[in-house]
Amino acid sequence: MSTGSTVQAAHADVVGEAGRRRTFAVISHPDAGKSTLTEALALHARVISEAGAVHGKAGRRGVTSDWMEMERARGISITSAALQFGYGDAVVNLLDTPGHADFSEDTYRVLSAVDSAVMLLDAAKGLEPQTLKLFDVCRHRGIPVITFINKWDRPGREALELCDELTERIGLQPMPLTWPVGQAGHLRGVLDVRTGQFVEYQPTAGGATAAPDVRLDPAAAAEAVGAEWARACEEAELLQASDGEFDVDRFAAASATPVLFGAAVRNFGVRHLLDLLVELAPQPTPRAGVDGADRPLDAPFSAFVFKVQTGMDPAHRDQIAFARVCSGVFERGMVVTNAVSGKPFATKYAHQVFGQQRSTLDTAFPGDVIGLVNANALRVGDTLHDGKPAVRFPGLPSFAPAHFAVARPVDLGRAKQFRKGVEQLGAEGVVQVLRSDLRGDAAPVFAAVGPMQFEVAAHRMEHEFNSPVRLEHLAYRTVRLLARPDQRTTVDGGTRSEVLTRLDGADLALFLDDMALRLMQRAHPDLELRPLLAEG
Ligand code: GDP
Repeated sequence: MSTGSTVQAAHADVVGEAGRRRTFAVISHPDAGKSTLTEALALHARVISEAGAVHGKAGRRGVTSDWMEMERARGISITSAALQFGYGDAVVNLLDTPGHADFSEDTYRVLSAVDSAVMLLDAAKGLEPQTLKLFDVCRHRGIPVITFINKWDRPGREALELCDELTERIGLQPMPLTWPVGQAGHLRGVLDVRTGQFVEYQPTAGGATAAPDVRLDPAAAAEAVGAEWARACEEAELLQASDGEFDVDRFAAASATPVLFGAAVRNFGVRHLLDLLVELAPQPTPRAGVDGADRPLDAPFSAFVFKVQTGMDPAHRDQIAFARVCSGVFERGMVVTNAVSGKPFATKYAHQVFGQQRSTLDTAFPGDVIGLVNANALRVGDTLHDGKPAVRFPGLPSFAPAHFAVARPVDLGRAKQFRKGVEQLGAEGVVQVLRSDLRGDAAPVFAAVGPMQFEVAAHRMEHEFNSPVRLEHLAYRTVRLLARPDQRTTVDGGTRSEVLTRLDGADLALFLDDMALRLMQRAHPDLELRPLLAEG
C-alpha cells in the first residue's frame, strides 16, 4: 500500500502523471495481426524479453487466452481489458478490443475509454468490415487514428492503392510517415518520410528479439537499393503533393491519419509505431459531465465504467467492472460514490495491477483502467467519483445490432421473472431489447452486435432470474433508425421488414438484407432512414 506521503505526492502531480499516459486501442478485422502487434509493442517496450512464443506453436487461440498466456508466461500486467507498460517516460495503456467470436457491443464500448486508436490493416486486404465498423465509432467520437499497414513481408496490394482506399472509402486523408521500399512480399525497408532516411528491413525470426534500427542516408540508400529506392521516394512525394503532408493538427482533429508500413510478426515498423504514439497520440484530457462542464484532470477521483464482465459460474456471480479513470488519483481501498445510484462503493478489491504483479495496484491516474471485482452493483456507463463536486459522465451510446432473436419464457408460469430479467438485461446493455405492438410484450426481441451476447443473456435469464428462455433467431441483417414514427406502417407493411422499438425509445427498422432495404427505399422515396452508430 502507498504511504501517506507518496499519495500526497501523487496528488500533487496528477496532471504530470496524466501527461505521461497514452491510452489507445487497436481497431482491426480478425487476423490482421492485432495479437501479434500487441505482443510486439510490449516487446519493444521491453516488458517482455522474447516475443513469438505465444504465436505459431499451439495454433490459433482467442485473444483473451493469448493475453492470459502472456501474463502467465511473462509476469506482465494484463487484465482481460487492458495491458499497461512503460516506454521511456511514457505509460502506455493498450485496451483490448475483442474480435473473432468475442466481438460484441463491448468491443465498441472500449473505444469510449481511449484517447486514440491504431487502425491495423492487412496489406493484402485493406479496409475490412469490422475495421470499418470500429472506425465509424472512432469518427463519431473524434478519436485520432494512426494507421499501421501490416504484413508487408508478404505479397499484398500496392501502397498507393491502399492509401487511396482510405481517402475514397472513409474520407480519411493518409499522411505517410514511412513508405515501403520494395513491393509487398519483397520488402527492402522503408523510407522515413520525415528524416528522408532509409530504414533497412531486417526481419527478426519469429520476433524472437527486438528488430535492429539500421538507417542509411538518402545518398547511401540510392546507391545500395537503386531503383526501388527511387520509386519509393517518388511515390511518397506524390502522396505528399496530394495533400498527404504530415500535419499534427489534422491528425488531432481526426481528419487525417499518419500511415506506417510494417510487419508485426517480424517486429518491423513496430518501434516506429510506439515512438509515434508517444510523440503524437493525445494524452488524457478533461472529460465533460452530463452538465457539459469539463472535469479537470486534478479534480477528485472520477471514472466511468465501460465494460462489465459477468462470470458464467452461477455459484458466484463474480462480476468485474472495468472503469477508466478520468480525473484525480485512484487509491485502492477508497470508498467512492456511484453517481447513478448515489450509493457508496468500496474498492477494497481493486483487482487490476499496474506494476509487475497482480494485487499490487495502489494508485491509478487519468487514462488508466481499473478493474473492480465484486462489482455487482455497477453497470456499463456508470460514473464513480470521490467527494465533491459530484460528477456524472454521459452514458454510453447504443450501436447498430447485427443479430436478432425473439426471446420466450420456457416456463409460462414465470412471466414476472421473465419480464424483470428482460428489463434488467436491457438496462445493463447486455443485449438491446426491442418490442412492438405487433409482437406483444411476451415476445421481446433481443438484438446484439455479436452472438456471444445472446449466450450471456440466456445464461443470466436462467440462473439469475430463474426464467430460462428459448431464443428464436430472426433472419434480419440490415438495420436503420426510423426517423419519423408516422412512417412505421410503411416499413411494417413490407414482407421482409418490420419496425421494433428499443428501450431508449428509438425505432429501429429491420430489413432481411440490403436488397430488401433498397427495394423499400425505391418504393417509398420519402422514407427517412438513418444509419446507426457502427454501421460500417
Ligand atoms: P488477430 O486476429 O488480429 O489478433 O491476428 P493475429 O495476431 O493472431 O495474426 C493472424 C495471423 O497473421 C497469424 O498467423 C500471424 O502470425 C499472422 N501475422 C501477423 N502479423 C504478420 C505479419 O506482419 N506478417 C505475416 N506474414 N503474418 C503476420
